Amino acid sequence: SLKIGIVGLPNVGKSTFFNLLTKSQVASENYPFCTIEPNESRVSLPDQRFDFLCDFHKPQSKVPSFLHVTDIAGLVKGAHEGQGLGNAFLSHISSCDAIYHMLRIFEDENVVHVEGDVNPIRDMEIIHEELRMKDCEYLRARICEMEKIVQRGAEKSKKPEYDLLLKVNDCLETQKRAIRFCKWSNAEIEMLNKHLFLTSKPHIYLINMSAKNFAKKKSKWLQPIKEFIDINDSGAHLIPFSAENELNLLNEPLESASIGSLGCSALPKIIKNGFQALNLECFFTCGPDEVRAWTIHKGTKAPQAGGRIHTDFEKGFIMAEVMKYIDFKECGSEAEVKSAGKYLQKGREYVVDDGDIILFRFNA
Ligand code: GDP
Repeated sequence: SLKIGIVGLPNVGKSTFFNLLTKSQVASENYPFCTIEPNESRVSLPDQRFDFLCDFHKPQSKVPSFLHVTDIAGLVKGAHEGQGLGNAFLSHISSCDAIYHMLRIFEDENVVHVEGDVNPIRDMEIIHEELRMKDCEYLRARICEMEKIVQRGAEKSKKPEYDLLLKVNDCLETQKRAIRFCKWSNAEIEMLNKHLFLTSKPHIYLINMSAKNFAKKKSKWLQPIKEFIDINDSGAHLIPFSAENELNLLNEPLESASIGSLGCSALPKIIKNGFQALNLECFFTCGPDEVRAWTIHKGTKAPQAGGRIHTDFEKGFIMAEVMKYIDFKECGSEAEVKSAGKYLQKGREYVVDDGDIILFRFNA
């Protein structure tokens, strides 16, 4: 399944954030067969639609959607040359599909900054550069391999891929840009997806600030960070966050922290954004036994969505009976949805919408 990795320099608050995510969770004893690495966590997706459906059906079992999060420690300047945990660590990033890029703007003289002082712009540059260098190294090796094949003229079919790698090279080496920054056609994206380029992964920037500044939504760094992202990673989301505030909300203050006015938790927004960055959405199945959210890629068709539940649903697919969540909520019951003519019967080509409530008809 897709996952999102937490990346940032040491001492910016990554593991504090990871622990906060894990703590905010109900224990996962419902899933005895899932073994999860200590640095991996399944975080349930906050979803008012799911909560409404659970309130309505009062089912015995409730299963929300999950976001899979990994804490990736050890990125420092020079990692691509083997500094710190170096290469091993960078390969952990390549197994993630999106990145929470954690930046520190809180000042605390008790918490050492590896680069000497607080400067999130420099920190972003360091991380972007490490990821880019790693991609360059990988790309050089691929280009070398392909050159031999293409020069022999043996495999004409490899030419488009070779040309694409040269285009990637122009982006990474000449323009010194992340792959996600350049524009690619759908065919190119499909080819690029076969490679696990680090700079192709979407980033969400989490700005770890003091509780005091978070409550006021104020810091001299917010505007410069925003401008930097607009230029270097346009379209990426930036979410102000405060590990200190989150801990205060849990009533477990940091040693250095003061509990003043509490701000709202930023965690729900962060989790939802992560889910979207992975291009995921969910549909629901509902009944007195179970209300469940099923995670799918955007654009999934009904039979494959059914296949998430059981292979028979896909193999023997007859149709999907669909209620839009909003119709169900407005009408107040399935019977009312039906009498309003909004209970839909959909075939194989139906593309499932985020929030659909579905009953699958199938031949066993
Ligand atoms: P990581 O190396 O990025 O995983 O950073 P950690 O989460 O281990 O945090 C490093 C230190 O910074 C720990 O002592 C945390 O308690 C502290 N820390 C984390 N977030 C904050 C914050 O928002 N404010 C302050 N003052 N300290 C923080």
